[in-house]
Amino acid sequence: MVRVKKIDHIAICVKDIEASTKTFEALLGVSKSHDELVASQKTQAVLLPLGETSIELISPKGNDGLEKFLEKRGQGIHHIALEVEGIEDALAALKSAGVRLIDETPRTGARGHKVAFLHPQAAGGVLLELVEPHE
Ligand code: ZN
Repeated sequence: MVRVKKIDHIAICVKDIEASTKTFEALLGVSKSHDELVASQKTQAVLLPLGETSIELISPKGNDGLEKFLEKRGQGIHHIALEVEGIEDALAALKSAGVRLIDETPRTGARGHKVAFLHPQAAGGVLLELVEPHE
């Protein structure tokens, strides 16, 4: 069973993360709460807090998938991340329901959280990420 608690973040893929961070900070009237080079995903990630959720700006630092995304589609919404309780159980439940997964086991994402991606074919062409916060 998948127990979703909330939308953890909506991720926007950008070319110049420093310039985009300034743009979004001014636009939303917030300051970034987190800025990390996520080595495991070769991605720079900046979080802009919005109440219970966040906007995540991501930019490739050697990540081929994100480079291709920018080449093909340009900047834009890349994925929606759902906070779940018990990410391993959620993945097992989805797998046994025949849902196509990119990650069958969680990996470590920004903030040390456990993360896993579902295949966009599973959700109307939208890339969904499951997140379980690191305690
Ligand atoms: Zn994300």
